[in-house]
Formats: sequence, C-alpha cells, structure tokens
Amino acid sequence: MQLQFTPEERAFRDEVRTFLRENLPEHIRDQVIRAPSYVSKEDVRLWHKILYEKGWIAPAWPKEYGGTGWTATQRHIWGEEYQAAHAPRLSPFGLTMVGPVIYTYGTEEQKRQHLPPILSGDIFWCQGYSEPGSGSDLASLKTRAVREGDEYVVNGQKIWTSHAHHADWIFALVRTDPGARKKQEGISFLLIDMKTPGLEVRPIISIDGSHYLNEVFFTDVRVPVENRIGEENKGWTYAKFLLGHERTGIAGVGQSKAKVERLKRIAEIEQAGLRPLAEDPDFRSRLSAVEAKLTALDYTLLRMLSKEEAGQGPGAEVSMLKINGTEIEQALNEMLVEALGYYGMPYELESLRADTNVDPVVPRHGVGLMTEHLLRRAASIYGGTNEIQRNIIAKGVLGL
Ligand SMILES: Cc1cc2nc3c(=O)[nH]c(=O)nc-3n(C[C@H](O)[C@H](O)[C@H](O)COP(=O)(O)OP(=O)(O)OC[C@H]3O[C@@H](n4cnc5c(N)ncnc54)[C@H](O)[C@@H]3O)c2cc1C
Repeated sequence: MQLQFTPEERAFRDEVRTFLRENLPEHIRDQVIRAPSYVSKEDVRLWHKILYEKGWIAPAWPKEYGGTGWTATQRHIWGEEYQAAHAPRLSPFGLTMVGPVIYTYGTEEQKRQHLPPILSGDIFWCQGYSEPGSGSDLASLKTRAVREGDEYVVNGQKIWTSHAHHADWIFALVRTDPGARKKQEGISFLLIDMKTPGLEVRPIISIDGSHYLNEVFFTDVRVPVENRIGEENKGWTYAKFLLGHERTGIAGVGQSKAKVERLKRIAEIEQAGLRPLAEDPDFRSRLSAVEAKLTALDYTLLRMLSKEEAGQGPGAEVSMLKINGTEIEQALNEMLVEALGYYGMPYELESLRADTNVDPVVPRHGVGLMTEHLLRRAASIYGGTNEIQRNIIAKGVLGL
C-alpha cells in the first residue's frame, strides 16, 4: 500500500502549485477567500477557460474526450492543491456529471453537440433530479414525459435545482412509463434546452442569504426524442452512473486543511479584550480531535487511491469519504464562527464581494465565515444525505 508520494508525484505537485500560483487571477482568489459562493458566473467562466486552454479542465475524463491522462493519485494531488490555492469551485454539472454520462452512453451526435462546449465552458448545465417528495427516494419522481411522434411532452416540477438560473441546459429524470413493475424501470434521462417554451425557473433564497437554488417548472415542454440518453425507461442506470461521479472529490481534505490553518490564525488573536481562544485547553483539545480525524481521512483517501491505482474500484467506501469529509468541514466551520466570538454573528451580505467598498463590522479575517458555515450545512444533505450514505455502507461494506 502506497501512503506517500513518489518523487515524480512530488514533482507533479510542484508543477501544479506553480501553475495555480501564476495563473489564478488574484481578484478571483480574494473572492474565494472572502465568500466562495459569491464568485460571479463571469469569473467562474474566466477561470474555466484558463484551465481549458491549459488542457487541465477535465482531469477525470478519458484522454480521447479531452482528459489529461493523469493517474488517480495525480488527480488527487490536483484536487488538493486546487482547494489549497483557493481556486473557485467550477460548475460540476457539465464536467463531473452529465459529461461522463454523454461520453459513456450518448450517441455520436450528442457527443459532438455537447462535449466541446462543456469543456470550453461555453455552455453551463444544471441537474434536474430532485422533486418535492422525491429526494432520497429519487425513484419515486413524478415529472411525466409523454411521447408524441418524435417529441416528448414534459409536465412536472423539479426542486433544489442549483444554478438553474445560470444554466443553458438541464439534464432531467422523467417518468416515461408510470405502469412499470418497479418504479426504477419507468424513468428516462432527457437533455433539455432551458430556453424551451413552457420551462420556468423560480428562485429559492437559502439560509445564507444567497440565490443559487431554484424550482424548475415544466408545462407542456416539448423535447426532441433524440435528446434522450440511451434507451427509453432505462434512465435509472444512467442516473446511478452519474451519482457515482458526483461523489468523487467529495472528501474536501485540501479545503479542510486550509480551514484548520485559518482557524489557528484566528484563535491566536485577542478578541475584544478576551484571552485568545488558542489558550483555552477545551478549544485546543477539540481542535486536535478534528485535526486527528482529518489526518485519518487523508490516509483513508490515499489508501483508496492506492486501491484504485491497482485497478480495484472504491465502491461503497466513497460514502465514508462523504460522511467524514462533510462532518469534519462542518465542525471546522462551527469552530471558525465560535473563534470570532461576537463577530461571528453579523451576516453583512453587502460586504461579501471582494470588490465592495463596504467596510464590514466583522474584522477582515472573519468576513464570510458565518455565510460559509450556513451555506455548507447543506453539504451533508446534497449529493445523497449522510444518512443515506450510512445505509449504503451498511449494505455494501458491512453486508447488512
Ligand atoms: C444546497 C443543495 C443543493 C442541491 N442541488 C440539487 C441539484 O442541483 N439538483 C437536484 O436534483 N437536487 C439537488 N439537491 C437536492 C438533494 O439531492 C436532496 O435535498 C437530497 O437528496 C435529500 O432529499 P430531500 O431534500 O427530499 O430530503 P428527504 O429525502 O425527504 O430526507 C429528509 C431526511 O430524512 C432522512 N432520510 C430519508 N430517507 C431515509 C432513509 N431511507 N434512511 C435514513 N434516513 C432517511 C434524510 O437523510 C434527511 O435527513 C440539493 C440540495 C441542497 C440542500
């Protein structure tokens, strides 16, 4: 089992670090440090295009479709350095979700139409899976698609659709056979242009005060049959394949390591005449416990990569990464807010843009932490809740 990087891997890490240091625009980096969810669509696209030009936009894709040909360990190094450099989260819906579905199951025409603009960042996607009442129990979804000649007529509703208001296309699960023996067997996977008449996006404002979630309504939306992925009523197969891709990189070790460092710096500062938190033995012991868990997660991840390099798929263990990664991150976010003391409270949404001229009440080192704490509460919910991940482990690893 390989738990340390080889000299070649360390050289690769240096190359990645240098590239990120020299090419990530400073104003985007500043915005990520202040409030990552406030990076504008224009800046996400600008950074996307820088990576595209370099040929590093889709490390996990096969080389023939525009991937880098990196090993699993190189991809891991890239992910860690990326987070540590405060590079912005790219839109995952094209690159990590529907892209792999299209190159694996799509027709030649679908590949020709959709893969190049996903890679270049010219077309953004969103994910139309969840519905009111169909989240964890996704296969119970009700949005209906009825075939009329060479079109489907779609009626129904999706919810929690991240960035639908920015997206050009949506990939949606729809019910094409309500009479199927098993609910998973009557579902199809459609690619839908967001400009199609009858499709309406309504905002949901989340607890952190920002707008990235939406409801999407379909009223007699006409979708060409050639926009279906694979076979009719076999959409569940492609949907599950996509969910496997959604969870890659979910551990967020690099990001949590950066948070530990930030937390230590803040804890050293005297707050409003009080002793620095770093002198409090209870705080120090809690921080050590989280750091120990983070180190264990890092090693678990390296062990899995080692297995993957040896040709064994990670399987249900990916769920362990999701549970532990999100729990650690949420614990760190809470401690960061706590370390700010009284200054943990104010929202100050107007101060979250790096180019603002609003002088925040919160000291510079603490701006955006409360918003990040609230925003990332959702990390244990989306991508399959942590309870559902525990069910997967119970079945797939423990055999219960
Ligand atoms: C910030 C955010 C972004 C999202 N973005 C998208 C998106 O872009 N596209 C999209 O399609 N969806 C998106 N979602 C939806 C997300 O996938 C669902 O919220 C998630 O699958 C949970 O479904 P639910 O909200 O219906 O909760 P429910 O499934 O109703 O769950 C409620 C609670 O019950 C628990 N529970 C449910 N079933 C079980 C069980 N069998 N065993 C044990 N516990 C159980 C859950 O863990 C949870 O705690 C997003 C959600 C959030 C919060």
